[in-house]
Amino acid sequence: MILGVADYPSLEGSLEDFLSFASKLRIRVLELKLDKLELLLALSKTDKMFELKNLSNSYDFKYFVHATNIDINLASVNPFLRSASKKTILKAVIFAAKLDAGLLVSHVGRLSRDYPRRLVRKAMKNAIDSLRKINQLSNDLGIIFTIENDHKSNDYVLAGNPEQINFLVENVGCKLTFDVGHANTVGKIEDFTRLLDKFIVNVHLHDNNGREDEHLPIGKGSIDFVRLFKRMKDWKSEKPLIIECHSFAGLKESIDFMRQELSV
Ligand SMILES: [Zn+2]
Repeated sequence: MILGVADYPSLEGSLEDFLSFASKLRIRVLELKLDKLELLLALSKTDKMFELKNLSNSYDFKYFVHATNIDINLASVNPFLRSASKKTILKAVIFAAKLDAGLLVSHVGRLSRDYPRRLVRKAMKNAIDSLRKINQLSNDLGIIFTIENDHKSNDYVLAGNPEQINFLVENVGCKLTFDVGHANTVGKIEDFTRLLDKFIVNVHLHDNNGREDEHLPIGKGSIDFVRLFKRMKDWKSEKPLIIECHSFAGLKESIDFMRQELSV
C-alpha cells in the first residue's frame, strides 16, 4: 500500500506545518502543490529552494510535485499566456528534479467557453505541443511526467472524457495521474479505468456527488470506493493513492476510511 496526501493552497500554514501534519498520518507519499506561495518563491530564489530541500530531507517521505495550476493554461489560444504557462511548468520540472521528486503532475488546460467551439482543436494542439516539451525535459531529468484528467467545467474541457485523455497521453507520450473524483463528475469511473489503467501511475482520491468537484472526504459522496477497489485490485499494492481533500480534517478522515473500510 502506497498511501499519500496532497497539499492544497486552502490548507493554511507553512510547508513545515503540512509536513508535520502528514508525518502523524504515517503515510509514504507527499504531493506538493507548487501553487503554495512559499513554493512559488523557491522557483526563482536559490536560497529558498535550498531551505525547502533541507526541510524535505528531514522527513522520510517520497515526494511528488503537482505543477502550478492557478492562472496557468497550456492550451490557451493567447500566445503570451500560453508561453508564460509553459515556462512556469518547465520551471516546475526543474523544481521537481531539485527536490528529487519521482513524479510530476500537470493539468492540461481548457478553452474558455467565450470562444467558438471550433477552436477546441487548436487549443488541444497547443496543449500537446507544450506537454511534449515538458515530458521531454522531465524524462531527461529522470522524472515521470503525468497529466491529470479534468473535472466537468463550464469551459471546454480537453482532458475530461476517457477518449480525450487516451488521445493526449498517446500523443504526448506521458503517463496519467488518474483523479477518481474528477472522473466521477464526467462519467462512469469504470469507463475510464477500462481504457486508461495501463497509463495510470498515480491515483488522486476524493469524493463528490457527481455534479461538482467538491473534494469531499472519501465516503462522503456518491463514489463507491469499496466497489472500485474490488475491481482495481492491483491498485492497493501497486499505485500511489493520494488523498486530495481541501481541509486537514478531510485528509485525516479519508486516510482513516482507506485503512478501516478498504484495508489499504
Ligand atoms: Zn487531482
